Amino acid sequence: MIIVNLEELLKEKEISAILNILLESNFIGIYNHERILKLGTDSSSSERDYPIQTNDNIIGWVKGKPEKKANAIARFLSNIARQKWENKLLTNDSLDQYEKLIFIDEFLRQISVCSSLSSLLELVTEEIKKQTNTTTVLIFVFDSESNELNLCIEREGRVTFDSILKPNQTINKYVVASKKAEIINNLKLDRRYVEEETIGLSLIAAPLIVYDRVIGAIDLINEKTDAYTTEDLKLLNLLTFPIAAAIQTALLSQDNQDYFYILEDSLVKWTFALEQANKQLQKLALVDELTQITNRRGFEQYFNREYRRMKREKKSLSLIIADVDYFKNYNDRYGHKAGDLCLKQIAQTLNSSLKRAGDLVCRYGGEEFAIILPDTDSYGAVHLAETIREQIQQLNIIHESSSVSGVITLSLGIATTMATRASQPDMMIKAADRALYQAKQQGRDRYRFLFV
Ligand code: GH3
Ligand code: MG
Ligand code: MG
Repeated sequence: MIIVNLEELLKEKEISAILNILLESNFIGIYNHERILKLGTDSSSSERDYPIQTNDNIIGWVKGKPEKKANAIARFLSNIARQKWENKLLTNDSLDQYEKLIFIDEFLRQISVCSSLSSLLELVTEEIKKQTNTTTVLIFVFDSESNELNLCIEREGRVTFDSILKPNQTINKYVVASKKAEIINNLKLDRRYVEEETIGLSLIAAPLIVYDRVIGAIDLINEKTDAYTTEDLKLLNLLTFPIAAAIQTALLSQDNQDYFYILEDSLVKWTFALEQANKQLQKLALVDELTQITNRRGFEQYFNREYRRMKREKKSLSLIIADVDYFKNYNDRYGHKAGDLCLKQIAQTLNSSLKRAGDLVCRYGGEEFAIILPDTDSYGAVHLAETIREQIQQLNIIHESSSVSGVITLSLGIATTMATRASQPDMMIKAADRALYQAKQQGRDRYRFLFV
């Protein structure tokens, strides 16, 4: 599970700087499950503890007075924690997953063209060593006559089967019988195997299965303890299937092509998975680094596509462009880092204000955001713009150099085009821009609307 550490979060320079301003002369404290992490002037009791939460758990609380401010701080920290959580998820999952898929894809391609058992064993050993913390790979083949697992040994380019050498025998018999792979992280301590004649101290043993029939076993071995994780086990579980099929193919006469079908099957499966991962990666290239929402490039792509689609389907399309009020002053007063953090919070809030799957919020420019609303008429767009304006105001991000309010506010320009109008995508952008300009002219912290 991915966990955001509140204590570390509060130590980050820009967050700590903002909190100092927010906590100044307030009786508010920030706590995690164990202790007080940060205090304003002093602590004070409050009726409620306001939770700081990521998407899947509570990482701390804000308590004290004024309660409204405690609540605002809790929401501010929740927003940031959530962002951290999502970023971690993204990097952990997508990129790791992608690398793994690339490896498996490449491995399958290579294994399916291995012509002999010895080249197959060499490939398997080499690739597994690259991907895991393994010093030795042993492959055993089941001999149906003797009912024993024999070790595959390569000598001068030929593979022979040694029936005398039987390292890790108990373990292999066990995984072959259970048809399930097993991790052992200290062979000397595991009571099941203490008597065993073993190589190394850590081990993953997995059965090799073809069409439900166990044809052998594979052992990954490391000399030291605790060399393997469940991630390694997962990877090996994916690999044993094609390895088993390839071994069986090599063992049988070359004209028996049955098992190649299994390999081809897995190739097709993985090519599909790889395409999905590629799509995901493309998506990553369309994400703004600071705010983690769609960037300008993504906006252009999506807007043009939706524009054409709405015309074709004879539906309305709305566009909102929002610009932060007096943001230059904010940077000047609180620093560029605080400015960045503010943009992140706004992006997060805009994102969560959208309810329909087709709606998309993008970072359009420095402190400008664009919201694309397919199949949305002027009434719907105006309603959403007003909701957004209120939500940003309620974030309560202190902005003492704003002439319109004491907190960060947005001005919004809305443009709606109807199916019957002959317009162009850029006419819509210009209209939303013009509406935004009017909102600024007329005092900021408001929206203006134009038909295209
Ligand atoms: P107005 O209410 O008229 O929109 O005033 P403004 O100060 O917001 O407008 P202006 O266009 O003069 O200033 C925009 C500021 O946004 C200037 C720039 O430094 C800041 N900005 C743009 N991109 C970023 C960013 O990525 N991070 C930070 N911290 N500031 C940014
Ligand atoms: Mg601007
Ligand atoms: Mg601005």
